[in-house]
Amino acid sequence: MSAVKFQAEVLENLCIAPDICRMTVRWPVSAGLPAPHAGQFYMLRSWAFDETPMLSRPISVHDYDAEKETLTFLYQVKREGTEKLKALEAGQSLSLTGPCGNGFDTAEIVRTAAGRPVAVVGGGIGTAPLLLLCRELSAAGCKLELYCGFRDQPYGLEEFLPYCAAVSVATDSGAVGYHGLVTEILHPEQFAAVLTCGPMVMMRGVAKLCDAAGVPCLASLERKMACGLGACLGCTCHTKVGAKTVCKDGPVFPAEEVFE
Ligand SMILES: Cc1cc2nc3c(=O)[nH]c(=O)nc-3n(C[C@H](O)[C@H](O)[C@H](O)COP(=O)(O)OP(=O)(O)OC[C@H]3O[C@@H](n4cnc5c(N)ncnc54)[C@H](O)[C@@H]3O)c2cc1C
Repeated sequence: MSAVKFQAEVLENLCIAPDICRMTVRWPVSAGLPAPHAGQFYMLRSWAFDETPMLSRPISVHDYDAEKETLTFLYQVKREGTEKLKALEAGQSLSLTGPCGNGFDTAEIVRTAAGRPVAVVGGGIGTAPLLLLCRELSAAGCKLELYCGFRDQPYGLEEFLPYCAAVSVATDSGAVGYHGLVTEILHPEQFAAVLTCGPMVMMRGVAKLCDAAGVPCLASLERKMACGLGACLGCTCHTKVGAKTVCKDGPVFPAEEVFE
């Protein structure tokens, strides 16, 4: 089912760490809205079309609760668009367009794993789309190990604990966990597949390690977007199999197609 536009009620919008907020909204699938899956995103807009910023903002699905019919987003407050999202209060509403993108093919990942463990690797706010991924893969019986890199203090990791057999943290500052890069503690040869989202430099490092170990790797990319629906081609990226749009062909790509 393709993306739809819906005015969603905000149930909660809290800051869980400096400049990191978690917003939960109502998404009534029983009223005919499409259910999202891991790795998909929405175009969010809480301001009128004649107000700035001109473009809506793409934000990944952090979590989706089919029973409660709620969607949760985890977002970093950067500039005007995310500042306006942060200002939303419970009871107010915003425009959502989605679910957009291909997302992670969890059935294929489970098939590839065939009972062997899978590594999920996130960097900073790149952990946002990985919670629903872990929830879906764990529900399908996949054994998961989570690796996360942060500059200083980690955030939002407690939510992952029910779904992951192990959680390893690396910080640039050394404040928590391993003092260094998450790619220094990741050993892809121990896993059937590696799934990653975060800064391009981190994902490139993960892809290189996986390539050397001959382990399949999927990466979730970010690009500045205008429509989010594959119409404007503004988020086109060049891959080894031709030009692809991050919003429609992606955001999840086989790493060997997007990284040298
Ligand atoms: C598919 C997708 C999923 C995303 N999921 C999340 C998420 O779950 N949580 C989250 O916090 N952010 C996510 N982002 C990034 C988010 O869209 C931007 O941070 C946001 O649009 C910034 O808006 P702003 O108005 O606050 O700042 P802007 O003024 O738009 O941008 C501030 C800075 O962020 C950079 N930036 C803006 N948009 C992007 C982008 N799309 N990709 C890379 N850099 C960008 C700009 O270059 C600029 O330096 C996602 C982006 C994409 C494309």
